[in-house]
Amino acid sequence: MSNLYASIQASLAERPEATVLEAGGQTWTAQALDQWVGRYASALVEIGLQPGDRIAVQIEKSAANIALYLAALRLGAIYVPLNTAYVEREIEYFFGDAEPRVCVVAPTRYENLSAVARSTGVEHCVTLGANGEGSLAELVERQTREHEVVARAANDLAVICYTSGTTGRSKGAMISHGNLVSNADALIAAWGFTADDVLLHALPLYHIHGLFVALHCALLSGARILLQPKFDARAALEALPRATVMMGVPTFYTRLLAEPKLDRESVRNVRLFVSGSAPLLVDTFEQFEARTGHRILERYGMTETGMIASNPLHGERRAGTVGHPLPGVSVRITNDAGEPVPNGTIGNVEVKGPNVFQGYWRMPEKTATEFRADGYFITGDLGMFDADGYLRLIGRAKDLIISGGLNVYPKEVEEALDAFPGVAESAVFGIPHPDFGEAVAAAITLRPGATVDPEAILATLRTQLAAFKTPKRIFILDELPRNAMSKVQKAVLRDRYKDAFGN
Ligand code: AMP
Repeated sequence: MSNLYASIQASLAERPEATVLEAGGQTWTAQALDQWVGRYASALVEIGLQPGDRIAVQIEKSAANIALYLAALRLGAIYVPLNTAYVEREIEYFFGDAEPRVCVVAPTRYENLSAVARSTGVEHCVTLGANGEGSLAELVERQTREHEVVARAANDLAVICYTSGTTGRSKGAMISHGNLVSNADALIAAWGFTADDVLLHALPLYHIHGLFVALHCALLSGARILLQPKFDARAALEALPRATVMMGVPTFYTRLLAEPKLDRESVRNVRLFVSGSAPLLVDTFEQFEARTGHRILERYGMTETGMIASNPLHGERRAGTVGHPLPGVSVRITNDAGEPVPNGTIGNVEVKGPNVFQGYWRMPEKTATEFRADGYFITGDLGMFDADGYLRLIGRAKDLIISGGLNVYPKEVEEALDAFPGVAESAVFGIPHPDFGEAVAAAITLRPGATVDPEAILATLRTQLAAFKTPKRIFILDELPRNAMSKVQKAVLRDRYKDAFGN
């Protein structure tokens, strides 16, 4: 039985009376959670959801959202999580592309989204609110039986996750039960999860970080989840004394650092802070260590592959790197011909292993172009291995700037900019230039109270970087444009400044 939920159920059955979930002042024992999931599965079947059907979900984060996700796994349906920020026009695309039989939406959006559901041929539209209200919740309350776990093969689909894709059409990454189980097992071993752990969960449930990495590690090891509806630095600080593990995107850590109350005492029981989904600045890593004594463990992954690499639990956690490939996951760096290059050379990051997804939903041609003949998936990230095997990410292949025919890796320029005392963060990107084709441009934000002179920065940079890498312009912003997972949206910057050189 390769259904991920069968493994979760077996883990829950080991300690039925243990509390595994706390949310909104309520708690669930392992047994209560399994029974609740069983009733959710029964309700979904009553609505008309069958194994293999898709169920699209755009709701606020809540304990019921977890039960709904687990119920979809349990009955062998394919869960399609949708970012709560998506507007109707976007939802129309996702419904039309995924063709779910059932959609679950927030009660406040029912009127608009049920119309979208009708126009795209979705048969059933039900609601589930953040406080456990809605037509689906009512149906669950009426269930008297718990639906059984439906058998699934390892390569049967569990989830279709639309990738945030900063440009072009969103692609549905098809993720199987086997993908999820293998990745969760690797992470539990790598990060030493046990039933004694208490996980502070403040990540969204529509993205792999919060939905897979955080939930699966906790549920498969019998740990307790402290569920917070969203990340709020003060609420996190209040819960941290009870937590042993926190997972976050880099912004969580910069926001925690802005809280004067963050100190060693407030994190006395935490054994592990994990960061991922976007690069963690070396500065954040160092400041966090100085304040709390913790070296944040940075890991690297993506929707299509789950987690790929991680800094070690025991051993040196090296700032600015994402550590070593996880057990069972092969990572290689290649040139554009797909040939492996030696350590110390920048190239394409490629990945192979049981974690790698099954392809893009209904895009066989797109899928084919992203895989090498020998099965390696081309991540689109650029990186290199240090001499001793630590992986460093340098940027996205599509971020690569080619100025006057010369390659510029944004990360190198960003690191030089970040080293200026007044600079908080930077993003380096290419914009059209009449002479060079593309020119290097930079957006920076400043530390509180700092003032900088862009010309002085440029003069210093010219002594540190080749002229072709030095930005032609520096724009000072209040904040960098970011998506929900804290990734800087360079496409937004490229678009905003596309005419800066008067094209
Ligand atoms: P997503 O599919 O939304 O999870 O985005 C995956 C992408 O996020 C990767 O391909 C990387 O470009 C980026 N990413 C994830 N983790 C890290 C990290 N630790 N450092 C830098 N970039 C990261």
